[in-house]
Amino acid sequence: MNKASRLFCPALITPKNAVVKQTEQLSRSQKLLTDLGLIKSGSNGTYQIMPMAQRSVDKFINLVQSNMQLAGGQKIALPVLTPTGLWKKTGRLEGDISEFYMVRDRSGKQFLMSPTHEEAVTAMLATTSPISYRQLPLRLYQIGPKFRDELKTRFGLMRAKEFLMKDMYSFDVSEETARETYSVVSAAYDRLFKQLDVPFVKVNAATGMMGGSVSHEYHYVSPVGEDTLLQCSSCGFAGNSEVLETDPQSTACCPSCKSSDLKEVRGVEVAHTFLLGDRYSKPLGATFLNTSGKPQSLVMGCYGIGITRVIAAALEVLSSDQELHWPRLLAPYDVCLIGPKQGSKEQPAAEVIENELLQTIGDICGHEELLHDDRKDLTIGKRLLEGKRLGHPLTIVVGAKSVQQDSPRLEVHLSNGEKLELDLSEALNLVAEHNHHKKVLLNGRFIRENDESISRSVGHQL
Ligand SMILES: [Zn+2]
Repeated sequence: MNKASRLFCPALITPKNAVVKQTEQLSRSQKLLTDLGLIKSGSNGTYQIMPMAQRSVDKFINLVQSNMQLAGGQKIALPVLTPTGLWKKTGRLEGDISEFYMVRDRSGKQFLMSPTHEEAVTAMLATTSPISYRQLPLRLYQIGPKFRDELKTRFGLMRAKEFLMKDMYSFDVSEETARETYSVVSAAYDRLFKQLDVPFVKVNAATGMMGGSVSHEYHYVSPVGEDTLLQCSSCGFAGNSEVLETDPQSTACCPSCKSSDLKEVRGVEVAHTFLLGDRYSKPLGATFLNTSGKPQSLVMGCYGIGITRVIAAALEVLSSDQELHWPRLLAPYDVCLIGPKQGSKEQPAAEVIENELLQTIGDICGHEELLHDDRKDLTIGKRLLEGKRLGHPLTIVVGAKSVQQDSPRLEVHLSNGEKLELDLSEALNLVAEHNHHKKVLLNGRFIRENDESISRSVGHQL
């Protein structure tokens, strides 16, 4: 049972009359997450994730993993430290290295605290005794911290020096099968972003420092985004302006519907896919034995999702200035139950109902998904205000109206601000409905024509 009285949630308390010197521009998600005690700023662009936010991170990790498994992924874990020698071989230390964290061990050997793992995973395969074409395709992924010494850390989890990533690396026998892998993993990404039910756009992207031939980015559109996208006002098509500007044809009109009504929007890049070819396998000597027993370079792809960035950016898009709003599948808890105030007239009778609800709600949505706000020394109003700011999908109040003689009522608050007064069975139905909707999303059975909340989120593809 999750009890609010036991929850470690160190909210920021600013004393009245305090002069707050704001040196940094804060984003909405950063401010709410910090103020409400879900994250804490560590040193120098790093963040400490508190229990409630960690629940959301864990839920997202599970969702990502189930989609990676469906795409044939096998989970591995690579060391954070990658020998810099490997990066020398691929030429990636020749450009701007100011964002890399480099450390030396006691013998003087130099390592990167990896911002990404192409070299490490490719070198692993290069040193694995001959891989046969029969073992391919191989799709390996991991979920772990990545490091980037950002000149300008911003917006909390959205651009921090240490962040959590899911990175998958694929290995195929040919360009052709690598493209098949690319479409399988891309389909898993599309499905994942639809499950989150936050509007997203998928755009053709420049391959940049990764190299390779084909690349797509997934973006959430938000004013705090750092990329400029061109979005068509008529059909919703979006493209990365970096890419579009290189093509003189598309600056004038939408490549999809030919409308010239293109507007600039800001995008937060939340995921990125690349077809890499032999960009890494060749210099690092990662080969497989082909059907005639001859060694041949592996053909690679790589696929990243910023785990902590997706959560922050989704909150940025969905929340108001005052209240967090979570993707349904990522809310830390499904239901918050608030009991009567200590010493109130209704307390004894209301507690009977409260105890009954703790059992029945837990049975419906899972006891892990229920937060019991048992801080009865606090007024219902104060607890409700906090519950609403935290954005629980359902907050149920067992107050004075729950014990009235004719037609007892529970107050149910939805995260969209709606307030309902329901009898016991209606309230339980709402919990069941929420649970059902979650299952529909988890099973990926969400593409129904008359389901507005879902069709909204279907991204526009290039
Ligand atoms: Zn268009």
